[in-house]
Amino acid sequence: MTLRNSETDSIRPGQVKEITSLSNPIIKDIKALSQKKNREESGTFLAEGLKLVVDAIDAGWTIRTLIYAKSAKGKPIVDTTAARTIASGGSVLEVSEKVLSSITRRDNPQMVVGLFEVRWKRLVDIRPKHDDTIVALDRVRDPGNLGTIIRTADAAGASAVILIGETTDPFSIETVRATMGSVFAVPVARASVAEFLKWKQGAGVEVIATHLKGSVDYRTADYRSRPTVLLMGNEQAGLPDELAEAADTRVRIPQQGLADSLNLAVATGIMLFEARRRLLALEPRA
Ligand code: SAM
Repeated sequence: MTLRNSETDSIRPGQVKEITSLSNPIIKDIKALSQKKNREESGTFLAEGLKLVVDAIDAGWTIRTLIYAKSAKGKPIVDTTAARTIASGGSVLEVSEKVLSSITRRDNPQMVVGLFEVRWKRLVDIRPKHDDTIVALDRVRDPGNLGTIIRTADAAGASAVILIGETTDPFSIETVRATMGSVFAVPVARASVAEFLKWKQGAGVEVIATHLKGSVDYRTADYRSRPTVLLMGNEQAGLPDELAEAADTRVRIPQQGLADSLNLAVATGIMLFEARRRLLALEPRA
């Protein structure tokens, strides 16, 4: 999918266009990005919120279109962001709040939305160094879980997230929302099981799988000797044997109570902060 280019409905780089109609074809194309196939075809995705858009541009992500509510016009930071978008070859749309609501599918939409180019890290380009921690997720299904994991990986200082098998899309609006901007900070790669296992062989990593049948307490695993990959299972099925058996260690987080297991994002958070415990410190007080 490409943004339309007819005489009346065109959106050209450098242009600021005012749109109030929900049936405008440009808006229809942007709304179509709610579907994965359209994001894949166009190589673009939406991110909501001024801070997030500014952070993404600062981090070097390519913005194709900045969309803001009329009421946000005139705010210095919005005007500067619009100027930066145009300077980098993008376009700017000034729209009604009704249009923003329909794009984001929210009653109280953010006043600013950015349409960015998708960016995947190639698995072969992930070459972990000694203190690196990487999260590998097997067939993660839930956008909220994936977004929370990317956000938590960012906060814990992890260097990448690898998505194994058929997973939910990290560039869906729900996932991006849940990352709170961390999707722009943490490289995300994708791989089949076979590709992941091949990469593991050459990457010099310690793969620590989390499993409800794991016999090692997660607090005693070796997170120091080599770069660490925390391998997490699917929300319903857990890790398949092929992945669990290929790991160097299978750990379990001890539990009490009735719950069979922890939520995937919670378990990943616990693992990340344990694996990186020695590397994380509060800022020294002034
Ligand atoms: N029914 C699934 C099973 O049998 O594995 C439950 C999956 S659990 C909701 C999703 C993932 O979170 C697991 O595959 C594992 O990676 C992690 N997890 C959840 N609780 C855990 C625990 N107590 N110890 C280790 N990993 C855990």
